[in-house]
This record gives sequence, C-alpha cells and structure tokens, in this order.
Amino acid sequence: MKEQQPTAHQDGSTVLGHPPGLLTLFFTEMWERLSYYGMRAILILFLVDQVSTGGFGLDDKKAAAIYGLYTAGVYLVALPGGWVADRLWGAQRAVWWGGVIIMLGHLLLAVAATPEIFYLGLVTIVIGTGLLKPNVATVVADLYPEGGGRRDAGYTIFYFGINLGGFMGPLLVAGLAKVYGWHVGFGAAAVGMALGLVQFHFTKQFLHGIGLRPNASGASDADRAKAKTMFYAGVALLVVVLAVLFGGLLPFDPIAVRGYTANLILLMAIAFFAYLLFFAGLDSLERKRVWVVIALFIASSIFWSGFEQAGSSLNLFADRYTNLVIDAFAFTIPAGWFQSINSLFILIFAPVFAALWTVLANRNRDFTSPTKLALGLLFVGAGFLVMAGAAGFVAQGQKVLPYWLISTYLLHTFGELCLSPVGMSAVTKLVPHRFVGQTMGIWYLSISLGNLIASLIAGEFDATNLAAMPGQFMNIVWFVAIPGVILLLLVKPLKKAAGGIQ
Ligand code: GLN
Repeated sequence: MKEQQPTAHQDGSTVLGHPPGLLTLFFTEMWERLSYYGMRAILILFLVDQVSTGGFGLDDKKAAAIYGLYTAGVYLVALPGGWVADRLWGAQRAVWWGGVIIMLGHLLLAVAATPEIFYLGLVTIVIGTGLLKPNVATVVADLYPEGGGRRDAGYTIFYFGINLGGFMGPLLVAGLAKVYGWHVGFGAAAVGMALGLVQFHFTKQFLHGIGLRPNASGASDADRAKAKTMFYAGVALLVVVLAVLFGGLLPFDPIAVRGYTANLILLMAIAFFAYLLFFAGLDSLERKRVWVVIALFIASSIFWSGFEQAGSSLNLFADRYTNLVIDAFAFTIPAGWFQSINSLFILIFAPVFAALWTVLANRNRDFTSPTKLALGLLFVGAGFLVMAGAAGFVAQGQKVLPYWLISTYLLHTFGELCLSPVGMSAVTKLVPHRFVGQTMGIWYLSISLGNLIASLIAGEFDATNLAAMPGQFMNIVWFVAIPGVILLLLVKPLKKAAGGIQ
C-alpha cells in the first residue's frame, strides 16, 4: 500500500494564500536558475575567446557543439533524475544533492586549469541539474494535493522565480566575468547555487515532509532492490563512459557526439511512439491522440531549435556585431547581459498573456494547443526575420544597435509564452493516464533535441563570410515558419483527432 504523504497544510499556515513551502522552492529554483543562466550566458563566449585572453580558443563549430551538448544534456538527464527521486531518494534529497553537485560543477569551471577539468565541470552540472530541476517542480505540484486553480497559481509564482534567477544570473555572471575574468564569473555561479542550498537547508521544514520519501515508497522490497541495482548499474555505466572520455581512451569529438546524441533521441522518440501506436493496446481514439502528441513533439523540437540559439549564435552576434558602447557613460555593455532580456520580458509579459488566454477562454474562443504551438513557431520565425534584417547591415561591414537583438528576444519571448502553457499539459492530457510519466519524458526529449539542432544551426555561421549571414538567418525563418503554417493548417484535423481535448 502507498504510504500517505504529509501535506503542506498540516499547520494551516499560508503566505498570501499559498503554502510557505512554495517560498522555499521559489528561492531554491531562483538560485539554481541564476547559476544556470548566468554560466551559460558566458559559456560560448569563453569557449571561442582566444587563449591569450583567457579562453579556450575553439572555433565556432566546436564551441557551438559543446554548448549544444551541455544544454541538451540538462534536459536529457531530467528523465533519470525524475526516476531517481521517484524510486529511490524522494524529491527533497534529489533537490539537495542535485544542488550540491551543481555547485561543485560550477566550482570546477571556476578553477579549471585544463579543458578536461572544465568539461568534467559541465558534465557535473548536467548531472546535478537532472536531479534538481524536474524534482523541485514536482514538489510544487505536491504542495497542492487538491490541484486546480491554486496549483496553477503556485506554478505561475514558481515560474517567476525561474525568470527572476534567469534575469539576475547573466547580469551578475557576465558582468563579473567582464571585469575580473571568466573564472570569477564561473565562481559567481557556484556562489549563487551555494546560497540556494543554504536557503533550502534552513527553510525546508516548510515543506512539511513533502517529497521526503520516494513516490514509490509503497513498492515491494523486490521492486526497490531492482531499482537500486539499476541505479548502481547506471552510475557504473556513467563512470565507465566518463573514464573513457576523460581518460583519453577515445578522442572526444563534440561534433560527432552531438550527432550520435541527436540520433539516439530520435530513435528513442520513434521507438516510444511506435510502441504506443502499435503495441500498447490503445483504442482508435487513443491512437489518434498519440498522433497529436507526435505533431506537438515535432513542433516543440523545431521551436526550441530556433529559440535556444539565444545562448549560442545570438550571443555571438551580440558580442561581435552589436554596438555595445554607450558613449554617454563611456561604458561597454557585456555581451552576456543580453541573455537576461528573455527572462525580463517573461516577467513583464507573462501576466499579459495569462490575461489574454483568460479573456479568450471566457469568450469561448480559446486557442487549441496546436494553434498556440504554431503561434510560438511563427513568433520565433519573426524574431529571426528581424535578425536577417540586422545581418543585412553586418554584411555591409557595420555594427548594429542593440534594438535588433532586443526586438528578436521580445518576439521569441512571445513565442515562449504561447508555447509554455501548452506543451507538457497538453501532452499529459492526450495520453492515457498510465503513460503520462513517460510522455512527460518525451516532452523533455523534444527540448533536448531542439537544443542539439539549435547548436548545429549556430555552428554553421561563418565569421569569415559575413555576406552569407542574412541568407542563413532567412533559412532559419523558413525552417521554423513553414512548420508553423503547416501546423496552423492542421489545427482542424488535429482537433478532430484529439476528440474533445483542447
Ligand atoms: N526558462 C524556463 C526554465 O529554465 C523554460 C525553459 C525550457 O522549458 N526550455 O525553466
């Protein structure tokens, strides 16, 4: 029998109508995102920076591949990370140890004297994030066992925490990196995560034991033993892979590894959907809904493959082709500061979009999930159209004003706000309940794949051939906007296939 989990309402106290535990999770995730977005705001800039000025002097292709593997990895490990919490550790322990591992990873970056140590640091952060990020979000849900509107409101507040961290991180880390050097920037990310841990430690009693035990705590001893064996086997496999890579037994080619990883994700997705369609014993309506999920999976992968160029190609564009000097203050804007813009716009516009969806719903005109995803794709396309315009000036040998990038990030943020309320929740509604867990994983896979494709595209820009740049941005426009239009045309049949689910 499943053990009863304690609820947050045991002592009945609330903060502004919410369980106080929400604040614990809000600040934990804020600090974690501060370290994540802060570090990634300078990652590619550091990788391509010349050795003489403290960087690794990599070419753009290689740097983009490493960046892509890192950001894709973070979402890929959400799957095992969620599993570890569910079966073995409970969410609280996963969040705590995830945070500790993330902090150690950033510390490795801060002290890394060799590329090997640096890359080990990146892998460490990926593992820690896999433990922390998916599990801190599930504890938010568990704070509201009754679900419904209060839980949604809880998530909205939590989302603010994410973006508060996403806003402050790049300002802090890129600012410090500019003044004191890259490694001080990386160190600041470690300090940020450490503060998150201190905060979590001292306020975790507000969670009243939620997430203390694994969800599967009612599992039989045999199941638990099996899970433990799988866990140790996984850790052993990881150690072997890392030893092979870092022991120099196999040459590490990030571009090739990115290719393998993308193919692996595609294979996993195809195998999963094929299983659902042909072997899971679904009825015809359920199967039709799986086709809708497949459409959403493809659209989501394409969306993130455009959106997630923020930290790679667009970051390099800020650094190289944007006029960052503010004469009046004799000040040069650190390029990484542009990485804060998306989060800032989310903080400003999330309430506007939420109100818009409510108004539309009240008039019975709310958009279906495919419509929202299609709009997301079109916004990302529009953002790259702006970049194509900016690149037109760059191709003539000019630097452009920051407004171009700011406009692009605004449009991309609008895209995110169309997509973010949709993705996971649509997926969870469209598949039969017993497959929800795995299908959430599929959503993470689509983000991961999107990040890999984003880095592939970003690596194609050629700093020695600026004349090609406007055309390259236009190619991205077509790559995201054409599927957007196709998805819009498919809205009606998809709606029919979804059989009553919006
Ligand atoms: N910015 C959000 C976060 O970091 C969402 C990003 C995403 O889903 N890819 O949590």
